[in-house]
Amino acid sequence: MKTIISVKEMQQWSLQQKAAGKQISFVPTMGFLHAGHLSLLEEGRNQGDLLVLSIFVNPTQFGVGEDFEDYPRDLKADAELAAKAGVDVIFAPPATQMYPQGYASWVDVEGITEVLCGASRPGHFRGVTTVVSKLFNIVQPDIAFFGNKDFQQLTVIKRMVIDLNMPLEIVGLPIVREADNLAMSSRNSYLSAPERFQALCLSRALAHARQLAAQGGVKASEVLNAVREMITAKDLTRIDYLKICHQSSLLDQEFIDADSVLLLAVYVGKTRLIDNGFLLD
Ligand code: AMP
Repeated sequence: MKTIISVKEMQQWSLQQKAAGKQISFVPTMGFLHAGHLSLLEEGRNQGDLLVLSIFVNPTQFGVGEDFEDYPRDLKADAELAAKAGVDVIFAPPATQMYPQGYASWVDVEGITEVLCGASRPGHFRGVTTVVSKLFNIVQPDIAFFGNKDFQQLTVIKRMVIDLNMPLEIVGLPIVREADNLAMSSRNSYLSAPERFQALCLSRALAHARQLAAQGGVKASEVLNAVREMITAKDLTRIDYLKICHQSSLLDQEFIDADSVLLLAVYVGKTRLIDNGFLLD
């Protein structure tokens, strides 16, 4: 396994491999790898000839007062996990190479970036779509793998790839959870023991919402009220948003159908957690 930090070297490596007819699988991350990331790497390993993992805590997707400085980082542990997962190249560029002096170009997807996390974190998706576009240009993947954990991010990236005619396939993979159903996240490391315990209300609320939805003919507002009650019953939680949206337009739905996704963003203590799931099978 190679670690490349130079943008130029990464792009040259990829262009050479592609000229030799190799298919490149790509998993972009911000590092501090957990089993969710590993599931993407496993699928990437299965599907391409070569597997590239990027580790880059992208400053442009963090807002003022967010956790860019504190975001957990452990490149050594990540490299060990990546080697075991069969990664061929870790691409870990410094921010000064991704955004050198004079940097002035941005990729912006409209509409679907203005709701949910986009409404709570202005500028977040502009940072995501810009860095992902740059990574695609540098790594030149044939297939890139993303988690359903960041459901809106995946939806936005699929839209961008279609709209900008990017020549690659985007694959979305299921949320990997801890044994007690908390969705895995690098940010779970911020949680104290009591917060970690109360954080279970997100996945429990999702399960309860699915039970209600299974009864059929249920209004979204009824499900949202039940979910809101479950979450506000915990004293360390603060709801950022709770929404039932159509899976591709991300517009609010009045009635639940097979396209309905429940999306939650909840602060537990100071940590903002997200989770989501389809309401009907
Ligand atoms: P991050 O390092 O948080 O930017 O995440 C990198 C990729 O891993 C994104 O595509 C995430 O959606 C995905 N990911 C993060 N957590 C999980 C999880 N629990 N299950 C599946 N994929 C995940």
